[in-house]
Amino acid sequence: MNVQIIGYWGAFPEADGATSCYLIEKSGYKCLLDCGSGALSRLQKYMNPFELDALLLSHYHADHVADVGSLQYLYLVQNMIQSKDKVLPIYGHQLDQNKFSSLSHKATKGIAYDLNSTLTLGPLQIRFLKTHHPVPCYAMRITDGETTIVYTADTSHFEGLVTFSEGADLLIAECSLYAGMDGSGPGHMTSEECGKLAQAAGVKQLWLSHLPHFGDQQKLKIVAKQQYQGPIQIAKETLSFNALP
Ligand SMILES: [Zn+2]
Ligand SMILES: [Zn+2]
Repeated sequence: MNVQIIGYWGAFPEADGATSCYLIEKSGYKCLLDCGSGALSRLQKYMNPFELDALLLSHYHADHVADVGSLQYLYLVQNMIQSKDKVLPIYGHQLDQNKFSSLSHKATKGIAYDLNSTLTLGPLQIRFLKTHHPVPCYAMRITDGETTIVYTADTSHFEGLVTFSEGADLLIAECSLYAGMDGSGPGHMTSEECGKLAQAAGVKQLWLSHLPHFGDQQKLKIVAKQQYQGPIQIAKETLSFNALP
């Protein structure tokens, strides 16, 4: 399984960047995980978005879904230009009916994932965990049977994340805040909490993502390193994870 960061900013994208978006690939199957602001433009550096197999959404905050509308237009326009009738499946939760129904468009189809069972998308199997966030949001544990990645989506720290992340080859943790800040209100994690989570769950690698627009990002890594002994990367667009075949 390969993972490519497309967007990693929290809230809004900085110049030439994007908010949450990750491309997951396995044996030619291409799944986009969240589709934030700027994501569709950045994605085209790596692949033709018309060749996606699925889009999977953690929740409906704008920094995770802002480019869904543009992606729907892309499928509509490319179908017309190429005389095709492709329909992109977009998987999301059904706890906000208005937002969920907006996933279905002329060339996209919203599909609700079952929060209590494993979702199979091509070669990928995905489990969900409801996070602590002001709106319903789901962390995901994604495996191809050989490699496992865990994406925390947006959340404040809670104990259930440790079991859910246990032994993952890669943990993509949202790191919106600096150590000493309180993320329990806005539903976000600090660098210290990300490090503790990675250590307690025994993951093999930690990425700090969903990054803040203030402070010195290197401090996020320094503090996380005090808690976690494995390798840590601060998210950037060139960062990718390639599991050995
Ligand atoms: Zn959010
Ligand atoms: Zn967010």
